[in-house]
Amino acid sequence: MNGIKITYERIELIVQQHIHCIVNDCHYWTQGNKCVANEILVATNGFVESQPDQVDAPMANQLTPDSAGNCAYTACKTYVNKGSDKINADKVNRMS
Ligand code: SF4
Repeated sequence: MNGIKITYERIELIVQQHIHCIVNDCHYWTQGNKCVANEILVATNGFVESQPDQVDAPMANQLTPDSAGNCAYTACKTYVNKGSDKINADKVNRMS
């Protein structure tokens, strides 16, 4: 049979994360008001306040979504203070 055979061994798509943030005491914040966390979790204030540090972006697909109703009721669960001894608790990584 004539024709063209194309074999795809592996196509890897690298998506550049692009999050602006102005919370400059966060471990993941960097110059230019950029977040350099490899992933973040945004949640309702109630969720953020009630969950331990270990509950964060790496387990997002196991979490139940909820409604905030207003941006003032959302927060970044991935925030961790610079120099904190808890920077590894969430299993999120700095990309640079
Ligand atoms: S983890 Fe959250 S608070 Fe920290 S820099 Fe990124 S977006 Fe901002």
